[in-house]
Amino acid sequence: MIKKLYTETYGCQMNVYDTQKMTALLKPHGFAPHDTYEDADVVILNTCNIREKAAEKMYCELGRIRDAKQRKKAIGEQMLIVVAGCVAQAEGEEIIKRASCVDIVVGPQSYHNLPELITKVRHERKWVVQLDFTPDEKFDALQAEAQETQSAAAFLSIQEGCDKFCHFCVVPYTRGAEYSRPASDVYKEAVRLAENGVREITLLGQNVSGYHGLATDGQQVSIGQLIRMIAHIDGIERIRYTTSHPNDMTDEELFRVHAEEPKLMPFLHLPIQSGSNRILKAMNRKHDRDFYLRVIERFRQARPDMLFSSDFIVGYPGETEQDLQDTIDIVRQVGYGQCYSFKYSIRPGTPAAILNDQIPEEIKDERLQRLQTELARSQLECNKKMIGLTLPVLFEKPGKRQHQLVGKSPYMQSVVVYGDPSLIGTIQQVSISEAYQNSLHGEIYGTASAA
Ligand code: SF4
Repeated sequence: MIKKLYTETYGCQMNVYDTQKMTALLKPHGFAPHDTYEDADVVILNTCNIREKAAEKMYCELGRIRDAKQRKKAIGEQMLIVVAGCVAQAEGEEIIKRASCVDIVVGPQSYHNLPELITKVRHERKWVVQLDFTPDEKFDALQAEAQETQSAAAFLSIQEGCDKFCHFCVVPYTRGAEYSRPASDVYKEAVRLAENGVREITLLGQNVSGYHGLATDGQQVSIGQLIRMIAHIDGIERIRYTTSHPNDMTDEELFRVHAEEPKLMPFLHLPIQSGSNRILKAMNRKHDRDFYLRVIERFRQARPDMLFSSDFIVGYPGETEQDLQDTIDIVRQVGYGQCYSFKYSIRPGTPAAILNDQIPEEIKDERLQRLQTELARSQLECNKKMIGLTLPVLFEKPGKRQHQLVGKSPYMQSVVVYGDPSLIGTIQQVSISEAYQNSLHGEIYGTASAA
């Protein structure tokens, strides 16, 4: 009998990828995705610890799921509740103490053991916590899983963890040290994705720019070399990679591949977090704004039409009005096509959490608003430059209105057209006629074979 699996995912693309993997992992054990937790056999909350109050939100959600679990129990049915992801790693057994309805707590590097953990809990009727840091074992276990996707675009995890220890960030503590998957494993997974109809692959990791997986001959493969390998796969027409750290941008092959390889998209997410040297130092970013701008310039030399996005944190402890101005200034200098901006929030256990000069919430709110106004202006300006151009667009899904299709330009902009649904999964040339802050609109012009 098919067992119902309900998943909820919070946070970053890594978590989206991990949820897909957990779903694939449980499929051979009779689990199929289900769209509500009410009558699910297994519920997985894949949690994120980056934003404030993540754990509190999770406990609220667990309260609702606990009620459904009790309703199932009243009619003699069982529901297992799994908490996975970074909150699981950070809170561990504390989760069971506070929410006794939870059966399994599993960290981001241990979820490949989920089928065995579910069997164990079913038989022994006792909760289990597994938080081991074994990314090599995890990827070994996962690579046998069927790569099923309905989408023309897919993530492929190539690297996990982080050794950078930015003072505001929990990732090095929840995801562990940097680990690069062997290049041949990544290649094989990319081939399987292509065979399943994937046209665009995004190489995923906390610091993919520091990728150094081993080839079968024992030689280290850089991110640039890995992209070249994947570009040879028939059916893969677009390659992206995220996220990168400016300090890792030392691979000359990466700049060359941007200049020479048409399958590598001219868009890069390169977080700076702040435009102020003083704040960058306080954050332990280990680079300054000039270094960052030189990296941007180097990419533009390789590929003049390159568009960038970044993450920004506003209201880091000790931030002054001048620091904010420096951040706004860097937005103007780079001209970002997209950005993610957040108010600084205390993450327990990180060095910044114990700093005295925390910024009051109302000042953070006001500064975030000013920065976002600048980012919106920058994004709209980049989008407007596309009017009159013909761009290759990979169509991924239907739009909100009837007969609308939505796809992605090479520069990661959402592109909306009217067209036949059979075009989903294909790349078409689109003549861009309108530009808004979050999308471009146009008409299909002709058929393209590659981006
Ligand atoms: S580079 Fe910094 S912000 Fe990014 S994951 Fe590592 S510690 Fe966190």
